[in-house]
Formats: sequence, structure tokens, C-alpha cells
Amino acid sequence: MKKNIAEIIDVSNEIYDKGLVSGKSGNISARFGNVVAITPTLKSLSKLCEEDIVLVDMEGNVLTKGKPSSEVNMHLEIYKKRSDVNAIVHTHSPYATGFAFSNKNLKRLEGFGPIVTPYLQSIDYEKPGSDELAKSASEGLGNEDVLILKNHGVICVSDSLKEAMLLAVFVEETAKTQFITFMLNSAEDID
Ligand SMILES: [Zn+2]
Repeated sequence: MKKNIAEIIDVSNEIYDKGLVSGKSGNISARFGNVVAITPTLKSLSKLCEEDIVLVDMEGNVLTKGKPSSEVNMHLEIYKKRSDVNAIVHTHSPYATGFAFSNKNLKRLEGFGPIVTPYLQSIDYEKPGSDELAKSASEGLGNEDVLILKNHGVICVSDSLKEAMLLAVFVEETAKTQFITFMLNSAEDID
């Protein structure tokens, strides 16, 4: 478990350094059997230590000291519905979240695997930390690995933390590329 907690801290630092989360936003969790380790509420992901990571059971009972992220129920509901998911990374990364606040959908670009539907799945806005968001996100995710939360942010899931993080990085890069494309297409030619 010690090694796993160290990995959550590493991934937290990495997504902070990459600018995917800022201030005290974002949260990360990993499942180990019937226990979920999750980042704490109201703390920056940039400087977490081992004692900051909170362990909860699948019913949300806190097993250690500290207070889990306010989105703990969203994480638990996703784990309950998806036995293949063992790690969740939730960010408000700026480009992808810009799309989430706009009326434009994020396209799937090469790298997401086979493109079955043209756009990343999204759900309508629910209040952060609410039971409604936990329910809507876990249902809206379906069998996808990425979910856009309208007017809020992004969820990436995988069987490992590293993969979930790489997905979060990739979604942000994808959003950046699409943003640049929109800008170029809307710019007037100057030649
Ligand atoms: Zn959030």
C-alpha cells in the first residue's frame, strides 16, 4: 500500500507540474481491492505527503485520518460500476475545460483507439461534490475512458494510475490542437 500511495503522490505532482490542475483543484484515486486511496479535500495536489492520502471503503467510510476529496462519491460510484477501472484522474485542465464550458464538442483524434463515435462523451452540469454528479458521471461514463463534465472539467479512468494520467495529458493536448485549429480556421488570411 505504501508504494501505491507513493504513486498517487507522484501522479499528483506530475499533473500539477504539467498544468492540468491548479490551486487546490483536481483529485485522483486508486482502488486496491475494497479500499480506495484518494487525494484530500482543500489541499493542492502539488505538495502532498503520505499522511495526506485518505483511505475509504466502498461505502465511503473514512479509514484513516483526514478528509477525502469532495468528489469521493463520484470516484466510488465509478468503481462500483466499472470492475475494470482501478484509477481515476479528475482535472480542470484549461483547454479541455474550455471546451466543457463552450458549445463545442471535443472530437476524438487519433490516439484514442478505434473511433466509433466522433466526439468524447459528456454529461450536463451537476453541482461539484453532489450526489447528482456522482450518479450522472458514473452512468454517463458507460464503457468510455474519458468523460467531459459540462461547465466543470474532465474525468479519465484506467486500470492503472499511470495510464489514467497519460489519458488526461492526451485529452488536454487534443483539446489544445482543436482550439488551435478553430483559431486558424477563423483567422482571416493575410497574404
Ligand atoms: Zn472538479
